[in-house]
Amino acid sequence: MKTVIMGAGAMGSLFGGLLALAGEEVWLVDIWKEHIDTLRSKGLVLEEKGKAQPIPIHATTEVASVGKADLVLIFVKTYHTEKAVSDARVLQKESTVFLTLQNGLGNEETICKEMERKKVLLGVTGQGATLLGPGHIRHAGWGKTYIGELDHQITDRAIWVAQSFCDAGIETEVSSNIHDHVWGKLLVNVGVNALTALTGFSNGQLLDYPETTRLMERLVLEAAEVARKKGVHIEEDPIEKVRKAIEATRENRSSMGQDFDHRRKTEIDAINGAVVREAQSLGIPVPFNQAVTDLVKAIEKSF
Ligand code: NAD
Repeated sequence: MKTVIMGAGAMGSLFGGLLALAGEEVWLVDIWKEHIDTLRSKGLVLEEKGKAQPIPIHATTEVASVGKADLVLIFVKTYHTEKAVSDARVLQKESTVFLTLQNGLGNEETICKEMERKKVLLGVTGQGATLLGPGHIRHAGWGKTYIGELDHQITDRAIWVAQSFCDAGIETEVSSNIHDHVWGKLLVNVGVNALTALTGFSNGQLLDYPETTRLMERLVLEAAEVARKKGVHIEEDPIEKVRKAIEATRENRSSMGQDFDHRRKTEIDAINGAVVREAQSLGIPVPFNQAVTDLVKAIEKSF
């Protein structure tokens, strides 16, 4: 299987590196030249549980030079999706599958603007990674990955992608209700990301203070109400789910927190901002999500 990864940052390099180690043909595509040059000359350094190993891997800034792909994995930040998918059109043949494992809501809609809907698979991952520098990442989380068809069918191609991920050590399940999983992950991001960015806290510190705990709960409850009104099935108590996720990543600083630390644009529009948009279309008030979205966007503008 020839896999091309659009966006070779922390997660693109993690999935690319693990698939390459398992013997798959993988191409990493990124616009960051220094990173790509390092990957080409020295390979990808993947740090895992205190050990670092170099992985030889194909990497390029020129997507048109890669040829046709069986699988295209979209791993840019959500605000770069439209451009990356447009660039990736040259990779497609009849059977090419495009899969997003990005966080947030709206990825499906953005990709389907550029790509035939029948070619698109949706997913979420509990894997985590940190980019340490050009050509160098750390594997930082080991949760399960879920993928699924937009029309909820269990297809051979989804099983085949999941199998190749499993063979690479990425535990993956094909789901017939992938939108429920997307919302499940969204609830965690809604409760954690903006609050850690705004406070400067690690994930776990949110639970150390009654004020941030209460804010986390209000953000999550608002989003869960929107999800229910949209017919999304939420299995467990959403607050408990988010508390467990926070405890499991207590020492981590969320990606939005890290974006703030580096004065970078965040994915707020795909997370709390997406809850606000969905709520507006349903006529549900979500003042806490509106407030954190406005605060994050205003601070972002000052960078
Ligand atoms: P990242 O910023 O490390 O990597 C994104 C990469 O995309 C960058 O290297 C950037 O140069 C590249 N890029 C931008 N525009 C491009 C284009 N047009 N073509 C090719 N490359 C382009 O981000 P990340 O942490 O890997 O996150 C990627 C997605 O995965 C996000 O939606 C994030 O929320 C999600 N995610 C991240 C983690 C994590 O632990 N980092 C975990 C789960 C999900």
